[in-house]
Amino acid sequence: MKFQSVRGFKDWLPEEFIRYEFLVETAKKILKNYNYQEVKISILEKTDLFVRSRGEVTDIVQKETYTFQDRNQEFLTLRPEATAGICRMVIENGLYMKPKPLKFFTIGPMFRHERPQKGRLREFYQIDVEFFGNLTSWYEAEVIKMSINILYSPLKVFYKEVENEDLFTLEINSLGCERCRPNYKDYLLSSLKGNQNALCGTCQQRLERNPFRILDCKNSNCKNEIQKLEPINKFWCENCKLHFEELSELLNFLGLKYVFNPYLVRGLDYYTRTIF
Ligand SMILES: [Zn+2]
Ligand SMILES: [Zn+2]
Repeated sequence: MKFQSVRGFKDWLPEEFIRYEFLVETAKKILKNYNYQEVKISILEKTDLFVRSRGEVTDIVQKETYTFQDRNQEFLTLRPEATAGICRMVIENGLYMKPKPLKFFTIGPMFRHERPQKGRLREFYQIDVEFFGNLTSWYEAEVIKMSINILYSPLKVFYKEVENEDLFTLEINSLGCERCRPNYKDYLLSSLKGNQNALCGTCQQRLERNPFRILDCKNSNCKNEIQKLEPINKFWCENCKLHFEELSELLNFLGLKYVFNPYLVRGLDYYTRTIF
């Protein structure tokens, strides 16, 4: 019998692990400088936590998690991301009673049962940052600045001549708030439903479950349809507009170059306002 690791899971040998550890240590230092506190949450959660987090089955829970029943027939899920677990931690331990803001981060493995692609594993590592309190554009700018520092600092050690601009482009968008986001969702649905057959198979399913994901589909037909629509910023309410303007000004103030991309979305349904 030949022993092999599970598909999408891998070993970290010493040379690679040194790089991993260096990146993690650098990230921890940066995050602690911004007063983010490290926490460790469990890897296994009750499946309900992910299914009920928004009262609907998200794209990810439906087909992309490791979900199974244990010996007591309880449904459990290996965490696909850390946000739901940290929210559970805050509620379960009554941390919401403490003075805000609460700033937490956690670093560790996440699990998603998707088709392994180049550079994508089923067990992968995330640095997760969570903010509880009045999320002003100032704190958002802070998270963006931290993220760039985390990406940039380790590389700077190895490649002294590297400039930020050579490494990545910062793209930002706002998905709107609980008030204005549903208007854009309705608009997307009503505009795309009449012409469903022009979309790829995946997007036809997304139309029911998660229409925002259609915005970043790589299929050229889908791209074509999206180009015909009004961009999301036309639907922002006054508060969201103001919030986005403030964020743009702060990024300018911090000397961070960015591109506004109205088609930038996230895989999970619960995001509002700024994404990057
Ligand atoms: Zn809004
Ligand atoms: Zn598509």
